[in-house]
This record gives sequence, structure tokens and C-alpha cells, in this order.
Amino acid sequence: MEVLLRGGPGDGQVIDGGGESVVWGACLYERTSNIGRSRGRDRRVYQHRPDCCQPYGHGSEDRCE
Ligand SMILES: [Zn+2]
Repeated sequence: MEVLLRGGPGDGQVIDGGGESVVWGACLYERTSNIGRSRGRDRRVYQHRPDCCQPYGHGSEDRCE
């Protein structure tokens, strides 16, 4: 299943994923109940976690917000 990323460095990206969360680069994205439209198709929106960088040991050098 392809999902749409919202917020953070991966904003607007469409990737293969599913479940409660997906990882894009150094970032963690969390499933939402929203559906977004991208490339002419409706996709599940995954939202960038604002706290994803610190708990997982990633810093600003990973271009994470
Ligand atoms: Zn992040």
C-alpha cells in the first residue's frame, strides 16, 4: 500500500508502507485517519511525529525538524 507523508522532511512523499507508523529517512511518520490526494489517487496520510528526532537519536544533522 502506498501512503502519503505529511510534514517534516518527507512532506508530500509517497512511499510503500502500512501499519501504525512508517519510517522515511531518519523520520518517523504516524498513521492518521485522514485521506490525502496525491498523483490522482487517494492515499492514507501519515503525519510526521514532532518528537521523532529526539527519542530515536536523530539530530538536526539528519535534516529532521
Ligand atoms: Zn522527523
